[in-house]
Amino acid sequence: MSLVIVGSVAFDTIQTPHERREKIVGGSGTYCSLAASFFAPPKIVAVVGKDFPRDVLALFKARKIDTRGLEIRSGKTFHWEGRYGEDPNQRETIRTELNVFENFHPTLPDSYRSARLVFLANIDPDLQDDILSQVRSPEIVAMDTIKLWIATKPDAIRRVLGKVDILFVNDEEVRLLTGEANLVKAARLIRGWGPRLLVAKKGEHGAMFFGQHETYVLPAYPTPVVVDPTGAGDSFAGGFLGYLDKTGKAGRPDLRRAAVYGSVLASFAIEDFGIERLKAIKKRDIESRYREFHRLVSF
Ligand code: AMP
Repeated sequence: MSLVIVGSVAFDTIQTPHERREKIVGGSGTYCSLAASFFAPPKIVAVVGKDFPRDVLALFKARKIDTRGLEIRSGKTFHWEGRYGEDPNQRETIRTELNVFENFHPTLPDSYRSARLVFLANIDPDLQDDILSQVRSPEIVAMDTIKLWIATKPDAIRRVLGKVDILFVNDEEVRLLTGEANLVKAARLIRGWGPRLLVAKKGEHGAMFFGQHETYVLPAYPTPVVVDPTGAGDSFAGGFLGYLDKTGKAGRPDLRRAAVYGSVLASFAIEDFGIERLKAIKKRDIESRYREFHRLVSF
């Protein structure tokens, strides 16, 4: 199908109850592209500063991620700082420095414009809209966002949502978007705005899927190793969309399998800081955890 991903490629400073890491590589576009690359090569759209490490750009290339849409500009790379409490689902943003993203208005390479799948990973919704308008006729458009944009750019979010098929957000964001405490009612509202599938992520409690004809739930993989929850949501989306890209289908059973692959990738991402775990795993690790999921949910 071919999948275009727009999102942040970033430096993250992460504080967990046990450890602090300064300026490690992260970003919604990074996690999502790496996760998707296990299935089919995605095309990334983002910008980094000259301070971004060359070896990570080399890793993208080694994973066959198309980087023709990844600009390197003079200036500093996007920097986000977050802090987690004892509950890994609770995180606080300490700082967001957009840096080179501030004036980023890319023109998509021609080879990107015929993409059939587009993922608007967490980034300024005006940028999401701008990129989307450059893709000729995508079959599936998916989107993620966070509190910051819901609070500062609600109109832009509603405009983009009107063009989106699948929305990935966490349960807190669902409530912020709609002002509705009940997830089922909130899902109905959101589906009325555009998306035909809402994926409400609930961190270590898994995710709920609200589609046109069905609602279902998927647990998170019960891992005892939660080192750094950053990137779980993006890795989920990357696994989900990478699988759809590979199969070339998006029927109901395909969407369910995609959800399991998404959960598998998310469960790996959180087992180490930053992208370390996604760098280390192999396709066979993914398949083996996929099979474990089958045992986990069948009865
Ligand atoms: P996740 O944990 O999957 O929700 O995503 C975490 C990633 O989102 C981090 O690696 C950050 O660099 C990135 N991020 C955080 N805030 C923003 C923002 N306002 N815009 C774009 N990316 C962000």
